[in-house]
Amino acid sequence: YRWRSRFKEHMPIIKKKLIGPVGFSNLPNQVHRKSIKKGFQFTVMVVGESGLGKSTLVNTLFNTSLYPAKDSKVELTNEIPSTVEIQAIAADIEENGVKLKLTVVDTPGFGDFINNEESWAPILENIEARFDAFLDQENRVNRKRIVDTRVHACLYFIAPTGHALKPLDIEFMKRLAGRVNLIPVVAKSDTLTEEELKLFKSRILDDISANKINIYQPPTYENDDPETIQENKEIVSRIPFAVVGADRDIDMGNGRKIRGRKYPWGIIEVDNEEHCDFVKLRQMLIRTHMEELKEFTNEVLYESYRTAKLAETGGDIAVHSNPMKKLEADKAAHDAKLAKMESEMKAVFDQKVAEKEAKLKQAEEELYARHREMKEQLELKQRRMSPKPVQTPKKGFFSK
Ligand code: GDP
Repeated sequence: YRWRSRFKEHMPIIKKKLIGPVGFSNLPNQVHRKSIKKGFQFTVMVVGESGLGKSTLVNTLFNTSLYPAKDSKVELTNEIPSTVEIQAIAADIEENGVKLKLTVVDTPGFGDFINNEESWAPILENIEARFDAFLDQENRVNRKRIVDTRVHACLYFIAPTGHALKPLDIEFMKRLAGRVNLIPVVAKSDTLTEEELKLFKSRILDDISANKINIYQPPTYENDDPETIQENKEIVSRIPFAVVGADRDIDMGNGRKIRGRKYPWGIIEVDNEEHCDFVKLRQMLIRTHMEELKEFTNEVLYESYRTAKLAETGGDIAVHSNPMKKLEADKAAHDAKLAKMESEMKAVFDQKVAEKEAKLKQAEEELYARHREMKEQLELKQRRMSPKPVQTPKKGFFSK
């Protein structure tokens, strides 16, 4: 900072108008070409109890059959995993020549057990392991081919109970908020009426703010145009997104097909903004904020993890980079090991001595008891064997 401010002092920035064209206005196009060539990469995680429509929504979001359709009967007979598993599915998708390497991280088993207390732990572990993998690559000598497998967004599926958040929802969000971009969604929102949904959403937001949970908020910048600002506002107003997923199209006749769910009283259209928030969620996740989500993951979430991790192992790193310190640390470790061994040996010795003493004492008592018993028997025998004393006649009896 000091260097920068000093540098700034000598280099005042003067705004100048160009006299003629230079060509750097083409810079965005250069970036555009390069990124098209490189392709894009995005990792999204889905969390929520089984049956909340996670796979269906992922298929609907990316318009692919990433997950095979589940037959509910098969699903019921499937063995329930005993712990939360982490499964990743990767797919290369392409739209208008733009390639996207998409990875979906699923967490089957979450919230499905009788005791779900620690359900969040394996998920947090997985997110941090992905940060570690990135950190390892950054620390390598050759950093040319860094593969980013970090989770850029986490869709958290809230069961459409109509009440409020469950303790597990709160616990999960609290634990994960600092490590991942949390995007809460109300699963299967077609099962709630408009009124119920409105109330449910406001209760969820109340719970989120009461518990000081930082969910992902799409940012607005100063130089954004009014249209973008308005778009952003609309996205924010829909959080938590009430979603509806549908794998199959409904034939509306006259060749028109729509994605939705058919009920006796009508059809809920997935892509209709008046029916649900699916479009807004897709817009934020894919069309307008994917890069933002990645940037926030890298610059804020990963950075805070990296700083904490380095502070934790900072001592070790300082030691490794200084041979004298390393020697001292080795000696200290060796001494500590010796002292530990010595104290352990002493404890074992003391214990053995105490055991021996106890045994000796017991043997002594037994010996003493036997001795006493023998003595008593001997005395008894002696008493039996000794001649009976001669009875002297009472005086005056015969003398008469
Ligand atoms: P997952 O276990 O969370 O991946 O859930 P699935 O995507 O396999 O969906 C479980 C069941 O719920 C399936 O029968 C789906 O057809 C159904 N389903 C999925 N999304 C919705 C939805 O938005 N609304 C309703 N009513 N049902 C849904």
